[in-house]
Amino acid sequence: MRANRRTDTKPEIALRKELHRLGYRYRKDFPIVLDGLRVRPDIVFTARKVAVFVDGCFWHVCPEHGRQPVSNEWYWTPKLQRNMERDRIATDALHDAGWQVVRVWEHVPLAEAVSAVESAIF
Ligand SMILES: [Zn+2]
Repeated sequence: MRANRRTDTKPEIALRKELHRLGYRYRKDFPIVLDGLRVRPDIVFTARKVAVFVDGCFWHVCPEHGRQPVSNEWYWTPKLQRNMERDRIATDALHDAGWQVVRVWEHVPLAEAVSAVESAIF
């Protein structure tokens, strides 16, 4: 087993690998349909009803790195606003259906992301 972790690994892949290594079993990209709304969390613990999203800082507008783009505002700003709105709707719908939702920003260190997931599934 390699000790060094590639730094260019996508954050959700890194999180899946680490959870798997720790012995957790989950579904990936498992679609959940709620009142006609279809959401596809990155990681799903079906028995515990925990849905995990790893959100990209730019596309999901993280408060630290998700600065609104200054150019092409006519296109990008509404698109980012739609993403934020879609995230909010998905989170609310999952909560209403009794799911726990864990949203992890891609900038969060892996260990912190793992403990956020662990505190939801225990
Ligand atoms: Zn960020």
